[in-house]
Amino acid sequence: MSEREGQGKEMERAVQRGWLFDVDGVLSHLVEKKNTERELLERILGMLEKGEPVALNTGRSVDFAVEKVFKELEAMTDDKSIFQNLLLVGEKGAIQIFYNDAGNHQEEVDISITVPEYLQNKVRELVEKDFSDIMFFDTSKRTMISVEMVDGGDLDEFKRRQVELNGMLEKLLVENNLDKDYKLDPTRIATDVENKHVGKHLGAKKVLEWLKKLKITPQEFVAFGDSKSDLGMAEEIYRNGLKVQMVFVGGRELIEGREFDFPVNIPESNYEKGALEYLKSIE
Ligand SMILES: [Mg+2]
Repeated sequence: MSEREGQGKEMERAVQRGWLFDVDGVLSHLVEKKNTERELLERILGMLEKGEPVALNTGRSVDFAVEKVFKELEAMTDDKSIFQNLLLVGEKGAIQIFYNDAGNHQEEVDISITVPEYLQNKVRELVEKDFSDIMFFDTSKRTMISVEMVDGGDLDEFKRRQVELNGMLEKLLVENNLDKDYKLDPTRIATDVENKHVGKHLGAKKVLEWLKKLKITPQEFVAFGDSKSDLGMAEEIYRNGLKVQMVFVGGRELIEGREFDFPVNIPESNYEKGALEYLKSIE
């Protein structure tokens, strides 16, 4: 082995585990909209102190996770160097925030999957003109469009008007020749317009690319989620030929009867408590 190869080898760092967490319903309480199990955050600090990489993978805007997780963690330690191993992926894989060498948040936006600005403007005008009594255009999203129900809105009324909105949005995509690359993702309280390639799997792909840059190779990955879409994280890691297991804290009934290529752990408790229960069980 040449000297140069030898140095390259030394820079590779093998660690026991790499961790991926969905945010809502895993690190953050769904109703209180903040972390209510501090021990979970303490354990994440412990992982970072051991040099194990931790990635948050959320479908929401990055602001929420920065406020509710990053800042909480930062307030819990004086050793900011451990955050080099912490990554946040938001908007279903489109935005990343990591800590640069100076210890500050640095953002990277994947502009190749961003919804065109003219479409954002058209949807915004449409919502303000015809739907503002029950919906609003979420300006905190940067790479996708989210039209959400107003706080305290009536779910049935929203559902009824959402059908109307979705029809108009589909038409806008077709008229602007965007239906090949973009799609609607309607949920109970919002309709997103997004690139067809985004999702939890894309978030996981970004995490693997980040680890490659950091030259960290976990022997195994553990991914936590409470929605079926979160399984895309473990699927993506498995597809890359890596060892992975899923911790599913959204309730057994959601995935009952499905078979997976990787182990899926279902703790007794759900959400934050379930995540903590799993971490205690592997001590
Ligand atoms: Mg969730």
